[in-house]
Amino acid sequence: MTIDYRSDTFTRPTPGMLEAMYNAETGDDVFGEDPSVNRLEAMMADFFGKAAALYCPSGTMSNQVGIKVQTLPGDEVICSQLAHVYIYEGGGIAFNAGAQVRPIIGERGMITAAEVAAAINPDDVHKARTSLVCLENTANRGGGCCYDWEEVLRIKAVCQEHNLKLHLDGARLFNALIATKQDPTAYGNVFDSISVCLNKGMGCPMGSVLMGSETFIREARRIRKKLGGGLRQAGYMAATGIYAMENHLQRLEEDHLHAKQIAHALLEKNFTGHMLPVETNILIFEVIGDWTPVSFAEYLMRDGIKVMPISTNQVRMVTHLDITPEMVARTCEVIAGMN
Ligand SMILES: *Cc1c(COP(=O)(O)O)cnc(C)c1O
Repeated sequence: MTIDYRSDTFTRPTPGMLEAMYNAETGDDVFGEDPSVNRLEAMMADFFGKAAALYCPSGTMSNQVGIKVQTLPGDEVICSQLAHVYIYEGGGIAFNAGAQVRPIIGERGMITAAEVAAAINPDDVHKARTSLVCLENTANRGGGCCYDWEEVLRIKAVCQEHNLKLHLDGARLFNALIATKQDPTAYGNVFDSISVCLNKGMGCPMGSVLMGSETFIREARRIRKKLGGGLRQAGYMAATGIYAMENHLQRLEEDHLHAKQIAHALLEKNFTGHMLPVETNILIFEVIGDWTPVSFAEYLMRDGIKVMPISTNQVRMVTHLDITPEMVARTCEVIAGMN
């Protein structure tokens, strides 16, 4: 038995999801004629209280399209120094939008309204024009932490005062919604654009959705096409998103419980150093003493447990749809036996 905690992107479609794909009604989505894609887009726009939505092959494409639509070349984008859009999208902001990044130190991948306000450039020919702020919720490199909503509202106020757009990288927004029990339309009210991943905790093989106003999505559709993301019978994949919204959303709570159980087992051990607070489905912790992240991962691998070293002293574990209570129990047992 392999127990794979490296990422929540490793999930395989369930029999129910495969059946939803098999039965999907499809058409040519580049012509706007795929009923399953249209249904997923309408469903997601409605869920977040946005006017329109666009199905994209990946979260990276959703983010990149969102950033491209809301910036001009030479503009500056404010985000955390740990933001996925900055460190894990291949320099895409520079490549696709021709914009540059103003990385903010922040804390656990989250930034504050004061930091945003201090990073906005004055209207001066020497300076890049600040046009967009990107937040990430949950914050991946912050150990899946959730923004304090009051801080998000303060950031929004700063953006409004300075005429900046506000984008949310919500790759794991569903985890945040379940953990904080927030109303998704609150996000739609605050953010100009929102991207969500269906290929993470929601358990789909691929896909992401970008939400925004009608005019934003019309432009986003053009950019998606330019990037080669206009797919034909994408409904076979979109059907997995509809299925996940109906069947996998509430169960994220189980992933969060599993993460806390594993955290509990790890915190009993002397080799566990600083662990970021476990708020959702991600654990990030230091291994200390005789262990290194690599030796720790190799040891667990002998029991078929896969974890990911993410720095010279940190390991990441992510719980997801394919992690069962039995697997968590087995993992805790193996950890308990380690010295
Ligand atoms: C996974 C992820 C994305 C997008 O990833 P894709 O693999 O391109 O779908 C974006 N932002 C964050 C925070 C992520 O974790």
